[in-house]
Formats: sequence, structure tokens, C-alpha cells
Amino acid sequence: MFRPLGQRCMLRSVKAAIISIGTELTSGLTVDTNSAWLALKLAEIGWDVGMHMTLPDDQTAIADAVRLAAAQSDAVLVNGGLGPTADDLTRDAIADAVGQPLRRDPELMQQIERHFQHMGRPMPDSNMRQAEVPESGSGIENTCGTAPGIRVASSGAMIYAIPGVPREMKVMFKLSVLPELAATDQTTRTVVRTIRCYGAGEAEMAEQVADLMTPGREPIVGITAKHAIISFRVIAKSAAAADADVAEIRRRLGPLVFGEEETQLQDAVGQMLLEHKVTVSVAESCTGGMLGTCLTDVPGSSAYFLGGVITYAYDAKTDLLGVPRDLMMRDGAVSGEVAGMMAAACRERFGTDLAVSVTGVAGPGGGTEEKPVGLVWFGLASSDGVSTHKRLIGTHLTRWEVRDRACKVALHLLRRHLLGNSR
Ligand code: AMP
Ligand code: MG
Repeated sequence: MFRPLGQRCMLRSVKAAIISIGTELTSGLTVDTNSAWLALKLAEIGWDVGMHMTLPDDQTAIADAVRLAAAQSDAVLVNGGLGPTADDLTRDAIADAVGQPLRRDPELMQQIERHFQHMGRPMPDSNMRQAEVPESGSGIENTCGTAPGIRVASSGAMIYAIPGVPREMKVMFKLSVLPELAATDQTTRTVVRTIRCYGAGEAEMAEQVADLMTPGREPIVGITAKHAIISFRVIAKSAAAADADVAEIRRRLGPLVFGEEETQLQDAVGQMLLEHKVTVSVAESCTGGMLGTCLTDVPGSSAYFLGGVITYAYDAKTDLLGVPRDLMMRDGAVSGEVAGMMAAACRERFGTDLAVSVTGVAGPGGGTEEKPVGLVWFGLASSDGVSTHKRLIGTHLTRWEVRDRACKVALHLLRRHLLGNSR
């Protein structure tokens, strides 16, 4: 089925091309997230993605792209344009590209009919177009929508067409395409691991593992930073090799590592609060509820998160948390003193073991020389007393970024406190 791994594949890697279809993508109305998702999934099973293409709903353009991709790849993943409407042209384009007429597949017809019966809706005639596959091809069942996928071999490549709707695309890829691709070449199977860190800059963290990141080294260790979270990615040929690097990175970075794979800072903090049987509440000013949102994003957070207050105005800080009005009239609401009072009062009001407070200048206006945009004060109240922490989060950041970073600092303060307790 696949082209033998010859000269072109000296590294024994198998090559895939990803083609995303839709005028909404080429016009910029919708961001093509499917390609990125597919590329990451392919990397995990040792497939090398050599090409991404994004095309409008144009049959000739799609057919040309599929032909080009099939000539240069072992597998072509086309996503989108499988719907029943006139602008869904992927079926016809693939038939063009492989030089075969379309035929109606009886099994696909039944699957589509069953889907409509299940939904209790009559089936429009146009949906029968979706039962068409190129003559030598076959259909791929769609377990969560009407549009079946297509598989067909051509020019030594396997061509797959899968839905554009991200949810349907992911399910079909995982159920039907991934197992076939994973089975083609076991020798190049790759293990990808991600280690998530917070609390120091990207360069500083990279320095600590610089020798593992030397170009050409095996496993490959890379670093990326996104919204102040630093991720190390280990790409290895075996689980044992990946495990060894992950353990070494964890050893060197110590408490800067808060988790692996998709773990968020709030997941890590939540897990620790659960383990320590510690409750928490929050008093927020400039984050306006974002910190409470972060903490309650975690399923099961009700076991440790008791509540929060958004005290935005001076009056709210005075009435709800007892921060003296004349103190704020004199020094403003962004100070260590105010942050400390907010945290202490919050802890008392909610009766929690810990309370954390945030008060800062989110910008873009309102900054002064003394208190610039991005200046944020935090308070942390516990049975040990109250500590306050000042951070200059960054004068060049957007309002959302200042607020997002402030939430992360607050979570980090909680985490550090809990780590200290565990020692
Ligand atoms: P389609 O079946 O191709 O017309 O796609 C249906 C819907 O899925 C589109 O209107 C988009 O909202 C979404 N979609 C299609 N392709 C992509 C893609 N590559 N990335 C993200 N969303 C997509
Ligand atoms: Mg479309």
C-alpha cells in the first residue's frame, strides 16, 4: 500500500502532507487549527510532516494540491469540504486527482440514513452525495456527524479525506486514520513528552539544560514559551530514552517544573491543595475574577476553593474587606499594605486556610512613573501570617496579558507556599 522506504527516505521516516480546505480558512475568517493538531498527532507516531497547504473551496486547486502532495508524500490528509452543499468539493477534487469516477458506496448510504434516523430528521437528497467515493476507494465511518471520510491509494500514497469540523475530524482521525498510519512503520515511532515549567525566564531555564539541547543530539529536546509557561519537549525514539531525559530535566529544574503534557498551573496547585487538605479563597482587584475562574476551571475544585470577592472600587475594598479608605486615598489601591489587608480579611471572611489577593495596574492607561502599567502587588495569608509580594509584570504587555500573568503569579505563590509546607 505504501511506497517502499527507499532512497528518498534515508532517515526511514514516513512523510505526510496536510491539506486544509475552506474559503473561510484562506480568507482568514477561521483559523486553521486542524493542521496544527494533525501535525502534532502525526509527530507522535513518527510521521514527518513535509507540507501544509490551505486552499479555498475550488475544485481545480484542491485536485492539483492533492496530486502534488501525493507525489511527494506517503500519506495525504485532506480535511474539510466533505459536507453536502455545493461548496463542498473535496470528493470531486480527490476523484479528479486520482483519475477515477465517483461511485456511491452502499454501506455509506446506510450509515448516513441511520444517522438521520437516529436524529429523528428526514434526510435531504443532497446528503447522498456524501456516500460517494472514488472507484477504488472506500469510506470511513463518521461516528459523530453525517460526512463520511474517504480513503484511496494513488501515486504510492494513501490519501485520506476527513471532516473539517474539528470535533468530527479528531474523532475520525483517532478511530480510523491514526491506527492505519501508526501500523506502517514501527521503527520510526517517536515518543513525545512535554514538561511544563513556570517561575523563571525561558533563557534561564534553557541554560540549565543546554547540553541536552545540543543540535543533533538524540533525543531532541526543544523549548517553547507561551504566556509565561515554559515547555520543554522531548522527542525520542523510545519511551526509555524519553523517560531518562524527562527525569534529568525534572532533576535540574526542580520546583520550576509543575507538570507534564497538558497540565495547567491551576491543575498543579489544585492537586497540591487537595493533597494537603488546604482550602483557599481569593480577593481580586485588577484580575476581576480571572483568578477565581482559573482555580474553578479545574474539575473538583469545590473540594478546596471556597470563594472569592472582586473588590474593584475603593468602596468595595473598604466595605467588603475593611481596607481603610484614607490609606487608599493617600497611597492608592496598588500597594503591599492594601494587598496584605485584602488577603488577611479574605481569609477571615471565607474561613479558609489560605487566601491570596491581587491589586495592580492592568493598563493600558493609569500608569505613573511610581506605579507603572504592569505593577501588581499580591498578598498571601495563612496561619503563619501575611506576606506581600511585588511584581513588575512588564510594561509592554496588553491588559489581558498583565491580568493573565498576575493570575499565574498568584497561583505560583500558592504553589510555593504549599511546597514549603511539604518540606
Ligand atoms: P467544512 O465541513 O469543511 O465546511 O467545515 C465545517 C466547519 O468546520 C467550518 O465552517 C469551520 O468552522 C470548521 N473548520 C473547517 N476546517 C477547519 C480547520 N482547518 N481548522 C479549524 N476549523 C475548521
Ligand atoms: Mg467548508
